[in-house]
Amino acid sequence: MLHENLSVNEKGHLCIAGSDTVELANRYGTPLMVMDEGRIRRNMRIYKDAMKKYFGESSYPLFASKSFSCKYIYRVAKEENTGIDLVSSGELYTAVSAGFDVKRSFLHGNNKTDADIKYAIDSGVGYFVVDNLTELDRIDEAAKEKGIIQSVILRLTPGVDPHTHAAVVTGRIDSKFGIAIETGQADTAVEYVLKKENVRLCGFHCHIGSQIFDIKPFCDAAEIMIKYISHVKEVFDYEIEILNLGGGFGVRYIDSQPELDYEEFIRLISIFIHNEVKRSGIKLPTVVMEPGRSIVADSCLTLYTVGGTKEIPGFKNYVSVDGGMPDNPRYALYQSDYTVCLASDMNREADFECTVAGRCCESGDLLQENVLLPKPVRGDILSVLVTGAYNYSMASNYNRIPRPAVVGIADSKDFVIIKRETFEDLIRNDM
Ligand SMILES: *Cc1c(COP(=O)(O)O)cnc(C)c1O
Repeated sequence: MLHENLSVNEKGHLCIAGSDTVELANRYGTPLMVMDEGRIRRNMRIYKDAMKKYFGESSYPLFASKSFSCKYIYRVAKEENTGIDLVSSGELYTAVSAGFDVKRSFLHGNNKTDADIKYAIDSGVGYFVVDNLTELDRIDEAAKEKGIIQSVILRLTPGVDPHTHAAVVTGRIDSKFGIAIETGQADTAVEYVLKKENVRLCGFHCHIGSQIFDIKPFCDAAEIMIKYISHVKEVFDYEIEILNLGGGFGVRYIDSQPELDYEEFIRLISIFIHNEVKRSGIKLPTVVMEPGRSIVADSCLTLYTVGGTKEIPGFKNYVSVDGGMPDNPRYALYQSDYTVCLASDMNREADFECTVAGRCCESGDLLQENVLLPKPVRGDILSVLVTGAYNYSMASNYNRIPRPAVVGIADSKDFVIIKRETFEDLIRNDM
C-alpha cells in the first residue's frame, strides 16, 4: 500500500501498524485519528541519524510543531532527543507543559507580540528566529530586563526563483516572512543586531516552502545562504555558527507521488553544502533542519463513518461522512491530494466514482473529489490516509462540531493521545 505501516487483514479491514481500523472505530467512535508511534520515531531517527552522519555531531533536526502540536508529540520528541521549532506562545506552553527542555527550541513568527517575547524569555527559549528589526528591539529590551544575553538567528529570504520551483513559496523576496538578502536589508539587519548588547547573533535561517520533492531548491537556497555567511564574515568580520535550512520535504499522499528517501536527500544536500563551504572559505556551521510534515504525516490516518450516498444522475455522486473540514480543512484550503479508501471493505471492487463530502454547512466542505470506492452504505468505515500533518493542528469547531479523538498505536497497544472533545468543551468559554 501507500506506506509500509498500512495493510489489509483477513477480514478485508484496513490496518495501521497491524491494528484493525474498524475495531478502533468501533471502540473509540468516529471521526478518529490513529497515529502509528513507531512511524513517528522512525522518521525522527532518519533525520537525526542522517544529519549527524553527514553534517557532524552538532547537527540535529527540529520537529516543526505547527504540523502537529500536543503534549504527546513533545514527549516523543524529548525521548528521541530532537529539537523543536515553535511559532506561538501556545505551542511553547504546550511543549513546556509536556516537560520538553525548550533550550532546544527555536521560536518563529512574523509578528511576535510583546507578551510572546516576554513569555519566551521567561521560559528560557533557546533561540528566537528574528523576522524583523522592530521585534529585535523588543527582544533586546526584554533580555536586558531579565539580565540575560538572548541567542537569536535572523530569518532571511534567499529569493529562490519561484518560477522554476512552483512549490517554493515562502522564500521569495516579496514574502511576509524574513529579511531579503538581495535588497541589502539583510546587511542592514546584521549590522543592527551586532550593535545590540543583550542579543547574540548565532546564525541565519531560511525556509523555502513545503511539500517539495526536488532537491534543487534546497541546494539553491543553501548556496545563497553559504555565500551570505561568507559575505558577512568578510564585511563584518563575524562568523555565525548555525545555519537553519527550514523544512519542506515532500510526503507521499497518493500513489503517483514518490516516497522520498530522506537519508539520501540529506546526503546529497550535504555533499553540495560541504563543497560550497569549502569554496567560500568558511567553517561548516551547525546545520539544523525543521521537518514537520515528513515526521508526522504518514504516521496517521483518519476514520469516518459513512452517513450515506447521494447520486445525482448525469452529474455526480457524493459520499457523506461524519467529519470534514473541521478536522481536515486542507482540501477546502488547497485542494490537497489524499488517498481515500473504504476501510471496512478493502477487497471489494472500487467502481463507484464519487466526491467525499463532510458534514458542514458549506459547499466547499469536501475531503476529496473524483475518488473511486466500493459503493458504501450507511455505517461503513471510510479512511483518509496520511493525515498526521496539518490536520489536527488546523482543526476547528466550525458548526460547533467537537474535534475528534487522536489515538496512538505503539507495540500493538492503543491509547488515547488527545481526548475527543465533548459538547461541554464547546461551551467552556461561553458566558
Ligand atoms: C512550516 C514550516 C516548517 C515545516 O515545514 P514542513 O513542510 O512541514 O516540513 C519548518 N520551518 C518553518 C519556518 C515553517 O514555516
